[in-house]
Amino acid sequence: MVVNRVFDVAIIGAGVAGSALAFTLAKYTDINNIIVFEKYDEPALLNSSPKSNSQTLHIGDIETNYTLEKAAVVKRNASMIANYISHFGFEESIGFRRDKMILAVGDDEVSRLEARYKEFSELFPYYKKMGAEELKEKEPNIMEGREDSVLALGVEGEITTVDFKKLSESFIQMAVDSDKNIQMHYNEDVETIIKIDEGYEIVTKNSRFKTKSLVANAGAYSLLFAQHMGYGKDLAVLPIGGSFFFTKQQFLNSKVYTMQNPKLPFAAVHADPDITANWNTRFGPTAFVLPKLERYRQLHMMDLLEAMDLGKDTLEVYYNLLKDRTIRNYIITNILDELPMVGKGVFVKDAQKIIPSLRKEDLVFADGYGGMRPQIVDKVKHELKMGEAKLIKGGAIFNMTPSPGASTSLAIAREDAQTLCKHLGKTFNYELHEKEIGNR
Ligand SMILES: Cc1cc2nc3c(=O)[nH]c(=O)nc-3n(C[C@H](O)[C@H](O)[C@H](O)COP(=O)(O)OP(=O)(O)OC[C@H]3O[C@@H](n4cnc5c(N)ncnc54)[C@H](O)[C@@H]3O)c2cc1C
Repeated sequence: MVVNRVFDVAIIGAGVAGSALAFTLAKYTDINNIIVFEKYDEPALLNSSPKSNSQTLHIGDIETNYTLEKAAVVKRNASMIANYISHFGFEESIGFRRDKMILAVGDDEVSRLEARYKEFSELFPYYKKMGAEELKEKEPNIMEGREDSVLALGVEGEITTVDFKKLSESFIQMAVDSDKNIQMHYNEDVETIIKIDEGYEIVTKNSRFKTKSLVANAGAYSLLFAQHMGYGKDLAVLPIGGSFFFTKQQFLNSKVYTMQNPKLPFAAVHADPDITANWNTRFGPTAFVLPKLERYRQLHMMDLLEAMDLGKDTLEVYYNLLKDRTIRNYIITNILDELPMVGKGVFVKDAQKIIPSLRKEDLVFADGYGGMRPQIVDKVKHELKMGEAKLIKGGAIFNMTPSPGASTSLAIAREDAQTLCKHLGKTFNYELHEKEIGNR
């Protein structure tokens, strides 16, 4: 086995998170030697692929489960992606200005959205309030056959839709084109990380590499790497699959999100014009426990069992979730959505909240679409964590980034780049970062 030179930073995973970090380090720090390991032959084939996620730049304006404080943070963080796209000239190739809206249906939701409008309109001054008449004009299919009251907050002219795979590819290209030594190792599956005096040794099937620091951006595998090194034993992964349905014809021009049930942990049904399908309408995602770490790929049984860690504490979290009737019904509905014979018939009822006249015959299961959210279970607090999780031990960082991790990838990368600079005695160029992609 060959032992290579010592790198400053090793990044494991070239999804949008790992790629964003490679770009940020190459462009805005004086860290020189960076190696990226990706187990497949190109970047972003898993969750960051446009077929896996909803392609939405989550900025906090239509996510009704966010508090004002959280929306302000997400806005600051996600706006870096929009800034990157505009600054480097990737509009209409990576990021798209398409309309979107949050739709409230029924009196209760309408009054909740009214209240939200009052609270959030200073943070999002571009909101366009739309009642039945305006909606009829803008998206007639939302109003056809509708009897309930509706209200929508629309957003026009903003970058709302992103191809996160192309974004990842552009991050890597920019990193490779910089004056730094960036080594991309595709088809190189990292097996183990060993702590050594100089830093860490990264062991792959064919080789060993030394690095002073490392960042695992490998989805659920990041936690497994951490746990093999003795960290993060209080956490486990609940793999949540998400599937989609296409309509046979295009029904909407805008992204349409529905109001979140505050009790439910995952995004309520939404409809998105899809980049990969000529902007045809894609509904979803569903949310169901799927015993896999990678959708549509080989089952890694041992890794799965290890990640899920089905001991007493983990099972207690699931038991508590199942005790709640709303969550139980939600889980059952989402399992039924996946069944070949009945799925469409069950799912269409949810989708009719957006388009009342939609029939199950209008839908087709989006085969080959959908991803896996590595939701984190806190075994000590006995709760399911909804956002990202990060473990930092010395010069090693382990990121788990379920939704909306793609939207916040540049912010996570900036934070990690700063941590790495501190660890390595290097400098972060705040001025240039702020000027090019910062929170303007
Ligand atoms: C159904 C669904 C809808 C979503 N919708 C949105 C959305 O609209 N907007 C949004 O912002 N977010 C969305 N998300 C979340 C978003 O997709 C993820 O947060 C994001 O893609 C995570 O990026 P990542 O780089 O951490 O992970 P990934 O894209 O999964 O990349 C991890 C990479 O690590 C590599 N890897 C793993 N193990 C190893 C190893 N041992 N050695 C080498 N390489 C390895 C993998 O091959 C992969 O390329 C959605 C997620 C799902 C599932």
